[in-house]
Amino acid sequence: MAVSKRDYYEVLGVERGADEQALKSAYRKLAMKYHPDRNPDDPKAEEMFKEAAEAYGVLSDAQKRAAYDRYGHQGVQGAGGGGGYESQYTDLNDLFGDFFGDFFGGGRGNRGGGNRPRRGEDLRYDLEIEFEDAVRGTAIDIQIPKLDTCARCEGTGAEKEDGLTQCSTCRGRGEQLFQQGFMTIRRTCSTCGGRGQIIRRPCKECKGEGRLRSEKKLRVNIPAGVDTGTQLRLNQEGQASTNGGPAGDLYVVISVKEHAVFDRQDYDLHCTVPVNVAQAALGCEVEIPTFEGIETVKIPEGTQPGTQLRLKARGVPRVNALGRGDLFIHVEVHVPAKLNKEQRKAFEALRESLPQPGEGGGKDGFFGKVKNLFQ
Ligand SMILES: [Zn+2]
Ligand SMILES: [Zn+2]
Repeated sequence: MAVSKRDYYEVLGVERGADEQALKSAYRKLAMKYHPDRNPDDPKAEEMFKEAAEAYGVLSDAQKRAAYDRYGHQGVQGAGGGGGYESQYTDLNDLFGDFFGDFFGGGRGNRGGGNRPRRGEDLRYDLEIEFEDAVRGTAIDIQIPKLDTCARCEGTGAEKEDGLTQCSTCRGRGEQLFQQGFMTIRRTCSTCGGRGQIIRRPCKECKGEGRLRSEKKLRVNIPAGVDTGTQLRLNQEGQASTNGGPAGDLYVVISVKEHAVFDRQDYDLHCTVPVNVAQAALGCEVEIPTFEGIETVKIPEGTQPGTQLRLKARGVPRVNALGRGDLFIHVEVHVPAKLNKEQRKAFEALRESLPQPGEGGGKDGFFGKVKNLFQ
């Protein structure tokens, strides 16, 4: 994995909001310029070519693009690294096959041809995690049902000994040629599906599918700060390919359980702390169990109901970034519903000595306004 990677939009030279068409044409231009066939033995060009292929591979896939926009390179790296040129092979051929045909290098085997390797399908796995794990980050073992390459036939779907035979329709080319006016159009062979070979004796294990159902155990690293809806991509942990291409990707979609005390809003946490009237009037200290340990918080003298106190940087860490949100403490003032004799006495004494709320407000105070109503 490169230490510092260029921004994918910068690589392609497009705006962040660029649409599919703009991406495609920007990529096509770069790919033609730096294509290895046109720049033999030029490692710099090859580097540029791979970089563009990788950028296009991510940005042309809506899911990957969303992950990239949100989390940058981290969001699309996933476990296992890899990616890059090889896995973009399919996209590349799709892109050029239709438009350029044999433009590049002519008879180079299956480039642009029918039996190129196809990626396996992507998989989605929904994972519910504890609130605290989302805040602190964790690693969780999951087991996913998926289609893996069959070991008996190594994915060919045929028995090892003469299980395969050359497709007679395309004579092993994997594609058919059609003449249309001046143009020759290539199509994937419909008899063999582009493999160039057909199965004469299907594999006994997978019945010719080339893939088998399996349960794969995986450890998912969950970075601190993830929230409901966060998607983690695990490179090539999706379904196996049916014809020797790379596997698809696995997307782990996070949902976070509620917390008994804290509510989350983006990276900020909110909690409600009850105090009684005397504590609100005289001030007090309360202990708050933050994710950084117990914090003693001073509720100042004369705190009004609904007052919000803010503890800086006691919220949720930002995913794959520096800094964290804040913790907001909402003070709820509780008025006693039942008084014993002593308390009643104390409150009666208070009633005599405290000013009426709104008193001294003059004509604009509450009682001033009420008076006006009845005059
Ligand atoms: Zn098999
Ligand atoms: Zn064929």
